[in-house]
Amino acid sequence: MVDFDIIKIHMKVIEAIIRETPTISFEFFPPKTVEQEAHLFEVLAELEKFKPDFASVTCGALGSNADKTIFWAKEIKKKFGIEPVAHLTCVSASREAMKKQLDELEKVGVSNVLALRGDPPIGETKFVPSKNGFSHACELVAFIKEQKPRFCVGVAGYPEGHIEAACLEDDIKHLKMKVEVGADYVITQLFFNNEDFFRFRDDCSEAGIRVPIIPGIMPITSLKQVKKMTQMCGAIIPQDLLNKLEQADGDKTAVIEIGVEHALFQARELITRGVHGLHFFVMNQSGPISKVFGQLEI
Ligand SMILES: Cc1cc2nc3c(=O)[nH]c(=O)nc-3n(C[C@H](O)[C@H](O)[C@H](O)COP(=O)(O)OP(=O)(O)OC[C@H]3O[C@@H](n4cnc5c(N)ncnc54)[C@H](O)[C@@H]3O)c2cc1C
Repeated sequence: MVDFDIIKIHMKVIEAIIRETPTISFEFFPPKTVEQEAHLFEVLAELEKFKPDFASVTCGALGSNADKTIFWAKEIKKKFGIEPVAHLTCVSASREAMKKQLDELEKVGVSNVLALRGDPPIGETKFVPSKNGFSHACELVAFIKEQKPRFCVGVAGYPEGHIEAACLEDDIKHLKMKVEVGADYVITQLFFNNEDFFRFRDDCSEAGIRVPIIPGIMPITSLKQVKKMTQMCGAIIPQDLLNKLEQADGDKTAVIEIGVEHALFQARELITRGVHGLHFFVMNQSGPISKVFGQLEI
């Protein structure tokens, strides 16, 4: 537990990201029940020992839990001394509502955010901006930088292309727009083939994107879950990995072992080939991440 007034200390995560050694960061989602809340505190206590440089908190469907995102970002900073990054989405957010969220974040000592458009609500295929809201994440980035110039702003990138993008080239053009209006760094969507990331990094560099790009890694813990997630985001599970997972399906321990082994392989290769950091989608479970870190030389 951190027992001093850490709220007053503001650290831009980009300062950690640009140092020589790769940063480690974890992503959590706000729990829905009291039991899940208690569990998340246990997970944070368990993962704290790996000394993450920052921890990000997602913002859920319809922007409905923006308050919870702020609450958990504050708790992570106050109780665990880990620099939090609050996700902000354009879903159901007018400019007035976003200004309130930014003011609240500033008040509780959170000045690192990940600016996202968010997905259309379940059952809808097209994102519809709110009245006086934002159509794309680049508009949100510009708004944050205008309202809170001291905030450090990350954005999302897609090594395999965003699911709605006509082509990867267009998607990178749009990513560049986010950087041009002030994004400090990029965190990518999950991917399972490192070559997709390296090609994306090269393409971004060629397009003139100069900010750090941090790969997002998700240790697989369930075949059903990874199929659902990849279907939503368009990432591809390599056939040999899929075969292994299908063979092990039904044996939870075996599936987790395959997931850990693959995440470890990805992490090691990404570090060897010079990434600025590794961002882990923790899915509020400490076991698989602890297994990865138990074996990762960093
Ligand atoms: C690390 C990470 C964390 C995430 N966390 C969350 C979360 O907490 N909550 C949540 O709801 N979602 C989250 N997402 C998912 C994200 O919200 C979705 O992928 C969403 O569909 C796109 O968000 P974006 O910020 O990339 O949008 P944008 O950058 O706005 O891009 C969306 C689409 O529009 C296109 N586009 C962008 N700008 C323009 C433009 N100016 N003109 C025309 N087309 C344009 C892009 O090519 C892309 O196809 C996360 C994603 C990542 C990678």
